[in-house]
Amino acid sequence: MIVHNAQKREPNGDQARFLVRYWGVRGSIATPGRDTVRYGGNTTCVEIVCDDARLIIDMGTGARLLGDALVRSGVARDHVATVLFSHFHSDHVIGFPFFAPLYDPQTRLTVYANADDHVASLEGLHAVTSFPLFPVEYDNLPAQIDIRAVEAGVPFQVGDATVKSCRIQHPGGALAFRIEHRGRAFVHASDLEHDDATDAELLALCQGADWVSYDAMFVEGHDYEPHRGWGHSTWQAALRLADAAQVGRVVLTHHAPNHDDRFMDGVARDVARARPGSLVAAEGLEIDLLAGTAVAPPGTYATDESK
Ligand SMILES: [Zn+2]
Ligand SMILES: [Zn+2]
Repeated sequence: MIVHNAQKREPNGDQARFLVRYWGVRGSIATPGRDTVRYGGNTTCVEIVCDDARLIIDMGTGARLLGDALVRSGVARDHVATVLFSHFHSDHVIGFPFFAPLYDPQTRLTVYANADDHVASLEGLHAVTSFPLFPVEYDNLPAQIDIRAVEAGVPFQVGDATVKSCRIQHPGGALAFRIEHRGRAFVHASDLEHDDATDAELLALCQGADWVSYDAMFVEGHDYEPHRGWGHSTWQAALRLADAAQVGRVVLTHHAPNHDDRFMDGVARDVARARPGSLVAAEGLEIDLLAGTAVAPPGTYATDESK
């Protein structure tokens, strides 16, 4: 159930928390404008709060909003976050140099990148903070950045949370992540293209998860078929995976640039009918895994059927 309520709970130190907040839900390129104002035009950035630990999956243009919010709330100093990069396509990293905490020398940031091609990954990170794309060179960023490698399938801890991962099918490779905390599990699987046979590793990663956040850039029977092989999936594939892996609820993300608010309303309606409880992600959507609720900004969804 979605409770429409714009009021944000602010953390108070010792509170048990497992929150997921969407700061960017668009795929490929940012899409500002009147036609995307409700679902949002910023590219991928997902914040996950596990008690006092903060994880960030990808730093598309939504990372600018998250960084500004962290500075405003005063948590940008010291260890601000652990960033998990799924891969380094530009829509997942272009917001990195605009993440305000990077310009505070007190900031410590831990960054995980895929060990499969670690050098290329780090080149991607450096590329967005180097001449001629950006005026501040990576080595001159004031923050202290600790770079680490993710070995797909090897779990690690971030605070009290456990992070698991697997490779997913995408040009150049990408990782899906599963965050486990306080007996609940959240999976973020984007960017990926489903196979005819369900990917066994992804199926295992999603098994029994409370929520799965999934790349649904295209729609079967509408625009998936001409884009087969582009490395993206559909809401129909998301639901097949969710049923096979006994997932609690599905949240669709990485919306195609040309899927405007009216189109997304249709997807939201269709997915909620096909598997009640399924949602389309929008900028500002907050999932509380401990409470089992999802809260979107007022006016996000056009129909009650997406609640
Ligand atoms: Zn992408
Ligand atoms: Zn990609």
